[in-house]
Amino acid sequence: MGLFGGTPAVKKGDMLYAWTNDEEIKKRAELGGAVTGLWKYALESRIVDAVLAVKKGIDLYDAQIVLITNPADLKNTAGSLHCGTLLLSKIVKKYLDGAKGKKLGITVKGCDVMGLLELAKRKQVNLDNILMIGVNCGGSVSPVSARKMIAEKYGVDPDKVHKEEIDKGQFIIEYEGGHKGISIDELEDAGYGRRSNCRRCKYKVPRQADLACGNWGVIGEKAGKATFVEVCSEKGAHLLAGAVKAGVIATEAANPKGLEMRGKVEGAMLKLGDKWRKKDFAALGANMWETINKETSRCIKCYSCIENCPVCFTAAEELKKGSLMVKPGEVPPNPMFHLRRFAHISDSCINCGQCEELCAMDIPLALFSHAIRLEGDATFEPKLGKAAYTN
Ligand code: FAD
Ligand code: SF4
Ligand code: SF4
Ligand code: SF4
Repeated sequence: MGLFGGTPAVKKGDMLYAWTNDEEIKKRAELGGAVTGLWKYALESRIVDAVLAVKKGIDLYDAQIVLITNPADLKNTAGSLHCGTLLLSKIVKKYLDGAKGKKLGITVKGCDVMGLLELAKRKQVNLDNILMIGVNCGGSVSPVSARKMIAEKYGVDPDKVHKEEIDKGQFIIEYEGGHKGISIDELEDAGYGRRSNCRRCKYKVPRQADLACGNWGVIGEKAGKATFVEVCSEKGAHLLAGAVKAGVIATEAANPKGLEMRGKVEGAMLKLGDKWRKKDFAALGANMWETINKETSRCIKCYSCIENCPVCFTAAEELKKGSLMVKPGEVPPNPMFHLRRFAHISDSCINCGQCEELCAMDIPLALFSHAIRLEGDATFEPKLGKAAYTN
């Protein structure tokens, strides 16, 4: 069974409710704290050498990626940051040697998993040394638009908000003197809400991770107190079985009604993703290349879209040095600058939105690369990721 070996009492395919027995983690966690509890067990028992996770920085709009080696520090990573739009996969390649020499535990959203899979396909990361606990993802909100949305739509000073959560389709804030929730549909109809790539995203339950954790499907007395865990691999089964045996995590079988509800919510989210794709791609329509040409003409060649793209690495140095078609320093760059970038990621863009979000000139880059990749994917092999995810 390899690095994470052993015979698991929990099996691949199991659907469970899980929660931590660590009171400090439980207090800070989003739901039952199973994710943070599992990481603590994995570090303490040396299943992994370090954990890559996310913690709150100066406020809830400031999500920071952290590498943890001391189990006592893990409590600072408990909780979900919906205004945390970062991506962890390129960090593994760029700063952690592709996990080639050390065993890494990583909390991943669907886009983080997809980034890692695409990097592994290109031999940039070693998946054998990576353990992934996935979190379901309905979407994230850019910190800049979150502040604007809270000020304009909620009528609340964004600096007074100390907690945000997404529950039953609402974005809910808690602030000095009260709390307020508005449905995501209403926010998005008014031009606020999730990032546009997240609206089109269909990686809702990250089944390509070792465990997929979320709140969908937790009903009855465990609602809000436990995490729904789908066991997606033997590595995941081994981790959970060990943590249960050590007494740090408790589980019970998922309520069958909850399981059914989880399936329905996932199905509804996938349909919503299709609706946004139809809308966004129809707006691009027959004039896609004309629109790309017009929008990219304000590019200042800052290279941020290349630096931050998890799958665009072979093109980076080449485009920076310049080539016969793309002259160094030329601003705005020759359209070939963009066409070459799009060509490089036409089989690998995972629609993570990093290029668009971090573009100095607010060019809707992810919309273009997502549209191009989906067209290519309809015809060419291999498809993105592995069999379970092709979108
Ligand atoms: P905790 O013990 O609180 O641990 C949470 C883990 O998530 C920590 O490792 C932390 O570092 C990590 N984390 C926090 N923010 C981020 C981030 N922005 N990116 C990557 N990692 C992060 N579940 C659903 O069922 N439906 C949803 O629609 C849904 N949307 C989500 C959207 C986002 C952006 C995130 C981060 C999570 C979402 N979840 C969703 C998962 C859910 O909120 C919980 O994370 C999950 O149930 C685990 O709960 P827990 O108490 O065991 O986790
Ligand atoms: Fe979540 Fe998908 Fe957005 Fe990633 S791209 S943050 S998985 S909705
Ligand atoms: Fe993500 Fe943009 Fe790269 Fe696509 S092109 S993978 S959306 S950064
Ligand atoms: Fe041009 Fe935007 Fe890319 Fe910078 S991030 S190089 S401005 S397209």
